[in-house]
Amino acid sequence: MEKTSKSPILYSSKEECCGCALCCAVCPSQAINMEYDTEGFLYPVIDEHKCIKCKKCLKICFFPKKTLFKAERS
Ligand code: SF4
Ligand code: SF4
Repeated sequence: MEKTSKSPILYSSKEECCGCALCCAVCPSQAINMEYDTEGFLYPVIDEHKCIKCKKCLKICFFPKKTLFKAERS
């Protein structure tokens, strides 16, 4: 994977995230907050100002397709 200065994308659709909050738990910078969507389900949101791009959140997540970074999607 290429190095990037962008924060990871933890999921590109809600089918790729069950809201388990493991990513939030392992983040060494407390950069991930679990926030409610409009239907009342929790999803992780990364604070890019706190994120140090260590990718631990991507590695702990058991859902596939966790290699996307914002720079790669644009
Ligand atoms: S670890 Fe993966 S499935 Fe769990 S909340 Fe984070 S992104 Fe969603
Ligand atoms: S890349 Fe590292 S610092 Fe950034 S949100 Fe993921 S675990 Fe936290």
